Amino acid sequence: MGRAKQTMKFATKAIHAGQEPDPTTGAIMTPIYQTSTYWQKSPGDNKGYEYSRGTNPTRKALEDCLAALENAKFGLAFSSGMGATDAVMKLLQPGDEVITGNDLYGGSYRIFTKIFANYGIKFHFLDLSDQNIINSYVNDKTKLIWIETPTNPTMQVVDIKAVGEISKAHNLTFVVDNTFASPYLQNPMDMGADIVMHSVTKYIGGHSDVVMGALMMNDEELYKKLWFIYNACGATPGPMDSFLVLRGIKTLHLRMKAHCENGRQIAKFLKDHPKVEKIYWPGFTDHPNHEVAKKQMRDFGGMISIVLKGADLQETFRIASSFKVFSLAESLGGVESLINHPVSMTHGSIPKAEREKAGVVDNLLRLSVGVEDIEDLLDDLKQALS
Ligand SMILES: *Cc1c(COP(=O)(O)O)cnc(C)c1O
Repeated sequence: MGRAKQTMKFATKAIHAGQEPDPTTGAIMTPIYQTSTYWQKSPGDNKGYEYSRGTNPTRKALEDCLAALENAKFGLAFSSGMGATDAVMKLLQPGDEVITGNDLYGGSYRIFTKIFANYGIKFHFLDLSDQNIINSYVNDKTKLIWIETPTNPTMQVVDIKAVGEISKAHNLTFVVDNTFASPYLQNPMDMGADIVMHSVTKYIGGHSDVVMGALMMNDEELYKKLWFIYNACGATPGPMDSFLVLRGIKTLHLRMKAHCENGRQIAKFLKDHPKVEKIYWPGFTDHPNHEVAKKQMRDFGGMISIVLKGADLQETFRIASSFKVFSLAESLGGVESLINHPVSMTHGSIPKAEREKAGVVDNLLRLSVGVEDIEDLLDDLKQALS
């Protein structure tokens, strides 16, 4: 795994894990191995690389770095977060059942209900804060638990360790989508996860220039099964994107620190704002899951959602369009601040009744607080909400 050992601290792993000076030239940065295939001296006599769908040295350096950041042995990079999710679901057979949250990323909900449900897999969308509810849905067909925490966009925090114990008791595969927290804020492998999933597009890549996903795991059998799916189905990223993410990761710890600090100040500013009816941010002591967040996260992140007071859809659109520093856009986790209207953007694929149950109402806005100067961000919020 390169110079960084498993015992090294986060920042050192972010900069060095999986990466050695290039053996042919001494280049400090991992080269972009822009090749689809590799020379074999005689059939089968190669250096471990045959064809870039399955293996590529730039991607391998990235995968080892990703694994190290999540305290995992193995990492696999996919061409998107959804590609990674797709690979996990292909571990299942028709008739199998999955337990998951009722407050999921819209694309996860869509792939579960519109793709994998057609292949005979049954999904239960539950309130994961209640372990009795989870237990009551486990039966002998249950194979996998999929959680996301903090959730998108209402920042509910699921107790990873508690769900991990249920999963272990019933011999299930426990998957945590750790996109919102990033490995800087929480490491689900240390709390009982079998697989950690990331949309690398977000905080890990961090510069809004790459779409990528990842899976990290410790169990070698599970790694081999997932590598088989990855190579057989082929949603693997190219060397240029792998390089961009390797580069982005080197500042993950610095960026996350700044996201958290700006997030804290903006959350405090919005909490008592007359135009804000409700605010979702796990750092507040009156957040329903604050104690769980404090226990499993190192800080509270830069994702904040607000419900605008007395605003109908039209007024919500007007406010969402009036920012000058925040950009109205899908996605999150980049250095630039973004504002999102979940109902019309990221959560459009969830039926109205379903999403309103989860608090995704017409006048909800989600902020991805970037790392710009806090004064400029606060001024922008002040003018947009005036
Ligand atoms: C964006 C996102 C995904 C999907 O990842 P892509 O890289 O867009 O395919 C999955 N889960 C969460 C929480 C996300 O925010």
